Amino acid sequence: MKITSLGVSGAFSSGKPIMAVLEETIKEKILSFKGNSVPKDFLINFIESESRKYFNPSWQSNFLIEFNQPSIRDNGFPYRILFDAGGDIKNSLAYQNLLPHMIDGVYVSHCHNDHIGGMECLGLTSFFNPYYSRKKTEWLNGENIIDKLLTTGSENLYRIFDGMKMEVYGQEDVLNDLWKTLLQGFSTLQDIPKIDFETFFTKKIVTEDKPMIFMDDDRTWEGRIIKSDHVVSGKTPMPSYGVMFTCSDGQKIFFPSDSKIISESDEQYKYYEECTVAFVDCETTPNKSGIHAHVDERKKDNDNITKKQILYHYQSEPDNSDNKFKAIARIGDVWEF
Ligand SMILES: [Zn+2]
Ligand SMILES: [Zn+2]
Repeated sequence: MKITSLGVSGAFSSGKPIMAVLEETIKEKILSFKGNSVPKDFLINFIESESRKYFNPSWQSNFLIEFNQPSIRDNGFPYRILFDAGGDIKNSLAYQNLLPHMIDGVYVSHCHNDHIGGMECLGLTSFFNPYYSRKKTEWLNGENIIDKLLTTGSENLYRIFDGMKMEVYGQEDVLNDLWKTLLQGFSTLQDIPKIDFETFFTKKIVTEDKPMIFMDDDRTWEGRIIKSDHVVSGKTPMPSYGVMFTCSDGQKIFFPSDSKIISESDEQYKYYEECTVAFVDCETTPNKSGIHAHVDERKKDNDNITKKQILYHYQSEPDNSDNKFKAIARIGDVWEF
């Protein structure tokens, strides 16, 4: 199991040009230069135009997980699944030299934009890509996807068969809500009136009794869904669904997903205790939102819990100079278990 952090930032973080801070200082220096040998206007124009090209990203908190089992795309290795796909997923994938059609599956924890905003891109780019999987290329046999569905669609309700589209895993309510969000964008398919979730994706509902199963060479990983308390406001709480990945060799990698702070009295606390490593969200804003664990709250936890935690979903990088936590995740970090 190889985990790559595609992005580590909070939902509303944005990147900035690397030179933005330096730019004003450099401009001041040029303007204050007493002499005629420096073409001031030229230099300032140059700095203004060039500095914007170098951008320091703050991509949303999504992970790429790879298992050494055959992909659905071409039977090669590995199988690539995203743990959530936010609105900037195409950029964070490109940073890892990956394109949307190179992804086999997505696990969806909940329906905030920083976790599902990229699903339209993944669905449409794989739908219109005749080479998404070898099976799909053979099925289309050179024919346009729309024509193929219109000629075969009455029987198949305009569904492309499994093995020809991305697999989407999640709790049933989450996947139903996801479809409500995606429907308008996906309705742009002209002449195909009966589209549904399975026109674009293979739906994989995960329940407490029905985990995700992945092979990884000669080991097996079981991904069991775990409900997290995320947004608790008013009478209708919005949960998020995390996953405990348990390996046949005994390792347990826990992704609670977006979650408010969990204390020892909460039922979910046992998962933080029993896991080998936990990837946990951690906000660092001056004001506590209450929907994510704040770094000040995480620091109060016992060392035996925090030593296993890798922090992400932050606004500014949390301080870990005392090694209270296992690590602070950064873009492109890779962990192998
Ligand atoms: Zn989030
Ligand atoms: Zn959220």
